[in-house]
Amino acid sequence: RSIKKHFPIKKGLLMKQAGSIKAVDGVDLDVMQQETLGLVGESGCGKSTLGKMIVQLLAPTEGEIRFEGTNLATLSHQTTVRKNIQMIFQDPYSSLNPRQKIGDILTEPFRIHQMDSHESKERMLYLLDKVGLNPGHANRYPHEFSGGQRQRIGIARALALKPKMVVCDEPVAALDVSIQSQIVNLLEDLQAEFQMSYLFIAHDLAVVRHISHRIGVMYLGSIVELAEAEELFSNPQHPYTKVLLSSIPVQHPRMKRTPLILKGDLPNPTNPPSGCKFHTRCPYAEAKCGKETPALKGSAFHQVACHLVSS
Ligand code: SF4
Ligand code: MG
Repeated sequence: RSIKKHFPIKKGLLMKQAGSIKAVDGVDLDVMQQETLGLVGESGCGKSTLGKMIVQLLAPTEGEIRFEGTNLATLSHQTTVRKNIQMIFQDPYSSLNPRQKIGDILTEPFRIHQMDSHESKERMLYLLDKVGLNPGHANRYPHEFSGGQRQRIGIARALALKPKMVVCDEPVAALDVSIQSQIVNLLEDLQAEFQMSYLFIAHDLAVVRHISHRIGVMYLGSIVELAEAEELFSNPQHPYTKVLLSSIPVQHPRMKRTPLILKGDLPNPTNPPSGCKFHTRCPYAEAKCGKETPALKGSAFHQVACHLVSS
């Protein structure tokens, strides 16, 4: 609810006065049980920062993150509620300790939660099997695996404590295209089996469309459009969403689509534009757009934050 993350920056060579980077600037979002909520937007729009706040790698500057009604900020570090929310990282290479055997990587969460060693070994072998890895490979080190296999290890580690909510931060972006769909399918199978919710952050729109039930579009720290996946693709309303979707390559050679081009660069997030943050680049901007911030409104099925779109 009303989540903000502003990173303070000091006065210095580049900054005439102290300020802050407004990475996430007032986001309201609900993720339902067993739902995959996709989150898209250009790099620097705040997607990863939002994900890191949900798993509590970062604390929000303002606002509340609630899990099943409980404000996470009020919980102590030891609480078991925290294990319900886990993260899968973009880069399977750097997120695994190269000096640890994967069996040890996967049993570490159990040691922290004081599970006995027999039970934790059983569970580790079960997890390897669930993510499609040979349980006989538990004694190997991360470098002995391919990129796709390493991401399977990352997924197994995230699932170790039976989470109900998993933040997937560009989980297939570092993988070969041929491997991506295997990992996306694995995530879907695991979601059905373990009844988890995903926040799925990505900038590959085809992947997001495939896996998501609903999709949120972010621009400069705010959600500008939120809709059911097929609705968003067939009926985009926000001018920024239209630009994003127009950039997807069309497979069919005889079908042509002219990509819409944005004027200007992404504005500086330390000093975002007033009113609608998109007004400096929006082809439809009116005088009102620079003064009044449009609220995200509409039905549960489709919400848009734009003065020109009436709900
Ligand atoms: Fe464009 Fe105005 Fe809508 Fe913002 S509110 S997207 S500037 S038309
Ligand atoms: Mg990111």
